[in-house]
Amino acid sequence: MKRKTKLIHGGISGDPHTGAVSVPIYQVSTYKQEAVGKHSGFEYSRTGNPTRHALEELIKDLENGEAGFAFGSGMAAITAVMMLFNSGDHIVLTDDVYGGTYRVMTKVLNRLGIDSTFVDTSDLTNIEKAIKSNTRAIYIETPTNPLLKITDIEEASKIAKKHNLLTIVDNTFSTPYWQTPISLGADIVLHSATKYIGGHSDVVAGLVVVNSKQLAEDLHFVQNSTGGVLGPQDSWLLMRGIKTLGIRMEETEENTNKIIEFLQKHPIVEKVYYPGLPSHPNHDIAKKQGAGFGGMVSFDVGSEEKADQLLSRLRYFTLAESLGAVESLISVPARMTHASIPADRRNELGITDGLIRISVGLEDVEDLIEDLKQALS
Ligand SMILES: *Cc1c(COP(=O)(O)O)cnc(C)c1O
Repeated sequence: MKRKTKLIHGGISGDPHTGAVSVPIYQVSTYKQEAVGKHSGFEYSRTGNPTRHALEELIKDLENGEAGFAFGSGMAAITAVMMLFNSGDHIVLTDDVYGGTYRVMTKVLNRLGIDSTFVDTSDLTNIEKAIKSNTRAIYIETPTNPLLKITDIEEASKIAKKHNLLTIVDNTFSTPYWQTPISLGADIVLHSATKYIGGHSDVVAGLVVVNSKQLAEDLHFVQNSTGGVLGPQDSWLLMRGIKTLGIRMEETEENTNKIIEFLQKHPIVEKVYYPGLPSHPNHDIAKKQGAGFGGMVSFDVGSEEKADQLLSRLRYFTLAESLGAVESLISVPARMTHASIPADRRNELGITDGLIRISVGLEDVEDLIEDLKQALS
């Protein structure tokens, strides 16, 4: 099955009882049992719900994994994955991970004895150096947010296997339409489905796919025990979003390429970060491991004042956190998504006050370029 077909025919299709073409929203908490312990596969909706199950089957198929899991947010998904580990375990993570990931590792999970080290995983030697005797996993985000650094998933997975570690990949920016980390050797792939997978700025959700029966059993145990599950209505909205993921990603990429062409020529723009640019330091790896580069672009206008001027003049780019929706969004990472990272650490990473991040939407690209042009003038 090719990719766009899989988005529509993967997982569970429709409803066998009525012939309904879309999976119904099973707005239900509990299920009648014929006799004690004798039921149709569903007992209680925290443990399993037919609408959520259809979504979990679909994301499993899209990521070429063994089992899928849906959670109430990306952070709930990430936290559930971390609950696979024990007190005393250590995880090596990408240094410019999503701010919330950094926060949960350093302010919540550290209190439970799960220790972490953040390194620039785009340089594989840093991973190797950070591994300790109690390291259990390598956690990669690629491309990263907001500097769009790329880590070689295949090579990082090889390092992990050599040391008997799990490889976990946050695939939010690429989506399974462009990149399938399990096919490259990863064990666990996760998403903030709030972003491209939902795609319409109307759902908060998280998804996880694992590559083995053992991990599937372990993560289902955690999901059922800790209970951060996604509701049936939101599960249905994600399945609806996924049907158009392919055309949305293709169109986003086309718009992005045209916007980058404009930004690169503009005198106020000092630097453009995008893995699709041949000048990007890891362009070759991005090209090797993904079928596309996505719609996230960052650029530096040099100062906080210039950034604020640009923001105040834009009409079509909505100033908001989040990304991956039909509408174009713009943010200043230093004061928004990455505000929870201490200032000195931010500057160390290159997340300057003049850094702007855009999530290119599906408006007519000529309007988007016109808007940027007047705002930068
Ligand atoms: C948004 C985001 C998350 C967190 O997801 P929520 O759905 O907001 O909880 C995790 N990773 C990345 C890369 C994100 O962009």
